[in-house]
Amino acid sequence: MFKKSHLITAHKDHNRAVPKLGLVPTMGALHNGHKSLIESSIKNNDVTVVSIFVNPTQFSPTEDLAKYPRTLEKDIELCTSLGVDIVFAPDAKEMYSSNDEVTLNPPKSMGYILEGYYRPTHFAGVLQIVLKLFNLMLSSCYHSSQTDAYSIRAYFGKKDAQQLLIVQKMVHDLYLPIEVIAMPIVRDTDSLALSSRNVYLTPTQRQQALALPRAILRIEHLIVQENIRDIETLKAEANSILQGLQIDYMDFYTHNLTLAKEYGTREARKCIFLVAITIDKIRLLDNLWIE
Ligand code: AMP
Repeated sequence: MFKKSHLITAHKDHNRAVPKLGLVPTMGALHNGHKSLIESSIKNNDVTVVSIFVNPTQFSPTEDLAKYPRTLEKDIELCTSLGVDIVFAPDAKEMYSSNDEVTLNPPKSMGYILEGYYRPTHFAGVLQIVLKLFNLMLSSCYHSSQTDAYSIRAYFGKKDAQQLLIVQKMVHDLYLPIEVIAMPIVRDTDSLALSSRNVYLTPTQRQQALALPRAILRIEHLIVQENIRDIETLKAEANSILQGLQIDYMDFYTHNLTLAKEYGTREARKCIFLVAITIDKIRLLDNLWIE
């Protein structure tokens, strides 16, 4: 009798080299963070697809969907110069047949805290579009290949840590034949984590925002160089650096998004330090992945 695990691994049980397809899902306005995902995909796969789609279902009615930066021509130029094989830039009507589709909810324990607390419909929208993109990749591979299957890798940034963990959970829970690759955070020359939304910041706001990477890099220094791992000590340090800013959340979480200290530890190990601040309605995220 076949068990589920046999079915899932059955397609891997042959020796022929399987062509590899890399998918990099983005909302465009591409920067060096996106570029690092794209370059890694090109280096490690036979075909790279970059999707550019400002996904309406992950924005709430009060958010910045209409004014989200859109630079499609420049994005296509960058993709072409990097050697991307396919840029997939559909419009909303192509991706959504109606506003009453089947939807997918994130796990209750992961999807409605942190970003999900401030944006309760956000991760359902993310999962819906990511699953659609995965299925489009899978079905196009199926149709284009008579004899062989492609293996599909999807590239996500650790910058959006909660998104990455929830997508990984979807892949796991729904047995999706996709390998999720987690890519490190890319920072600007002043250390602010690159984000398409950074263009909203005035020069003064940007200066204020730099406290965020200062706090992250200080925590990294304390852990890596000084081996200080006491969660309360580290949080107090970050708090003092972020003083005067609106902190939406700041704490150490396990990879299941449980609070590390509720998990029964006082030490920061194998966890993620997640921080979000708001400067005049502009939300900025940053984080540190701790071994
Ligand atoms: P976005 O276009 O903002 O939806 O981002 C598309 C992908 O790029 C997501 O997987 C992000 O996590 C990733 N990404 C965005 N900014 C960065 C960054 N600074 N470093 C690494 N990855 C990033």
